[in-house]
Amino acid sequence: MRVRTLVLALAALIPLASVPAHAQTFPTDDAVVERIWEEGIERSMTPMLAQALMDSIGPRLAGSPELAAAQDWLLAMYESWGVPARSEEYGTWRGWRQGTLHVDLVAPRPQTLEAELLAYSPGNDGPVEGDVVVPPAGLTEESAARWLETVVGKYVLTSPPEPMCRAPQELEKYARSETVARLDSLRQALRGDMSGRMRELGRSWRDRERALEDAGAAGIVTSRWSGGWGVNKVFDAGTRQVPAIDISCEDYGMLFRMAEAGQGPRIRVHAVAEDLGEVPQFNVIAELRGTELPEEYIVLSAHLDSWHAGTGATDNGTGTIMMLEAMRILKAAYPSPRRTIVVGHWGAEEMGLIGSRSFVEDHPEIIEGLQVAFNQDNGTWRIERIEGQGFIGAGPHIARWMSIVPREISGHVTLEFPGAQNNRGSDHASFVCMGAPAFRLQSNYDEYRQYTWHTNRDTYDKIVFDDLKENATLAAMLAYAASEDPERVPGDQAMLPVDPRTGEPRSWMRCGTARRSPY
Ligand SMILES: [Zn+2]
Repeated sequence: MRVRTLVLALAALIPLASVPAHAQTFPTDDAVVERIWEEGIERSMTPMLAQALMDSIGPRLAGSPELAAAQDWLLAMYESWGVPARSEEYGTWRGWRQGTLHVDLVAPRPQTLEAELLAYSPGNDGPVEGDVVVPPAGLTEESAARWLETVVGKYVLTSPPEPMCRAPQELEKYARSETVARLDSLRQALRGDMSGRMRELGRSWRDRERALEDAGAAGIVTSRWSGGWGVNKVFDAGTRQVPAIDISCEDYGMLFRMAEAGQGPRIRVHAVAEDLGEVPQFNVIAELRGTELPEEYIVLSAHLDSWHAGTGATDNGTGTIMMLEAMRILKAAYPSPRRTIVVGHWGAEEMGLIGSRSFVEDHPEIIEGLQVAFNQDNGTWRIERIEGQGFIGAGPHIARWMSIVPREISGHVTLEFPGAQNNRGSDHASFVCMGAPAFRLQSNYDEYRQYTWHTNRDTYDKIVFDDLKENATLAAMLAYAASEDPERVPGDQAMLPVDPRTGEPRSWMRCGTARRSPY
């Protein structure tokens, strides 16, 4: 059992500069550190690996043929480096093949529109033309039923339009404060107005979409602006018969204004997609077996799946390449580790941490023997923070491991122990909830959240390779140091900070059950 320790101090920050030289009390071989550096920094393969994964294979939605292709590619890469790897089936998901999508304005004038098909949406045997309509304001239960009879063959706009599609940073910089305030209240009014229009069509968003397609609509049109130039977040469809599409902030706003002004907007949609039924789902696991302590494990991980509108470059192509490259580096520089080093490429993180949760359920021996797990899942940019997740005893170990990392890399990293616990967010939680010491290697978040996280602009060109190669090198060095540490990392759990709502310490996060099938 893990021992729970009361921590009197608030989250202790351990600045790396204060770790004394003698803290390095375990025998690391500088020649190994040097080889890791050379392999990771001077012979980095990250640009080539990222180009193959993002450009050639593409987005990796759970259940898509591209995710399966990415898994085959990982196995082939590991095989070419002589690293034992396998795929482990853990369940099934909805199979869906995304084809091409074309959306054109055909009246009152021609214009090609910027659009994405929502995930798992049906296609159409298109192209299919139809008028664009918005549910009228002031619908009652009775008039809603009558209005639904008029939507046959039409495309229905169901999102509120944005009053402006400029990034908020621009407005802050250039606009008058009255303008910013006016736009904010206009945005609120547009949201309120649209939810009023949709209310009588069904209880939930899904019910409303189904009511529209059951009434014979040609498709559902939404727009989920991500608050920056040209970015929309694109998730999954609720429709079962007709296409559900997302249109860019600019083009959606234009369609909405035309419909409201009675200018008769009409679009032509050609959506190609294929429902592949229920298909098996996998994690890919690579492993360098420990020579002295094979039953003790270091896990490096990142989810391989992504959303589908971009190519999943920073969510989580960069995490994937970081851990893949770290394993290539380790095989070259440290091929016979003391403890077993495992790399996990998880499936279906975006559907609710399913791959990592299944792995933890299927491998009690790895949880039992876990020295440490490091997961990366928040975009490009260099690693700058490791939060302790409440593991009070792990801090000194990680600080010692960081002491072998050259300052070019370690100088940017802050350790926060015992640190906050992030209940959700990514796959480290599948381990933390079991009381197994697992940490996120975190990089800058704000710009990621605005521009690439789950957006149509999450593409190869956003990757910062100077940082990615350092991140892979850091992961390899941490794995090396954790493997050589003479001691096991204790799983001592701090008492978590007080929840201001209850006045009680927060409770340790609980594990859910892996959702191994979509139905
Ligand atoms: Zn992610």
